[in-house]
Amino acid sequence: MSHEGIKLVSAEEAARSAKWERPMSRAAVDPAKVRVDLTRGTGVEIEWKDGHRSQWTFAWLRAACPCATCVEERERTGRPVGELTPEPKLALPMYKEPARPREVVPMGHYAVKFVWNDGHETGIYSWDYLRRVCGCDDCAKARGDVG
Ligand SMILES: [Zn+2]
Ligand SMILES: [Zn+2]
Repeated sequence: MSHEGIKLVSAEEAARSAKWERPMSRAAVDPAKVRVDLTRGTGVEIEWKDGHRSQWTFAWLRAACPCATCVEERERTGRPVGELTPEPKLALPMYKEPARPREVVPMGHYAVKFVWNDGHETGIYSWDYLRRVCGCDDCAKARGDVG
């Protein structure tokens, strides 16, 4: 007997995909204003057409890179989206420059690409993705990230 074609979805997986496939209104994923603070290096702020505001630090966005390689790495290690990779403990700690984009490239009307200072640039951050990973308390609660 073959199980091919049968997809077993665990409760945990179902909850995870529900979180990512939560329906969003058009205004919720359409930015009215995008502020990328490259000068001070603080991060990105988006004001959405539905009036919601999201904010992320560059370090968080780098660690939430949506490219296939980073997604695969997070799935393998169980590292949550946006959580930094733990630094290896070295005898002589080296200074690592905090994540910061060298360049911000708009991708049509739907996304933005960051060229990071560590050379990584394969992640395309769609507005939809960014809204789903909004870091505010309300959104974190809605996603079930916090109690
Ligand atoms: Zn990546
Ligand atoms: Zn939010």
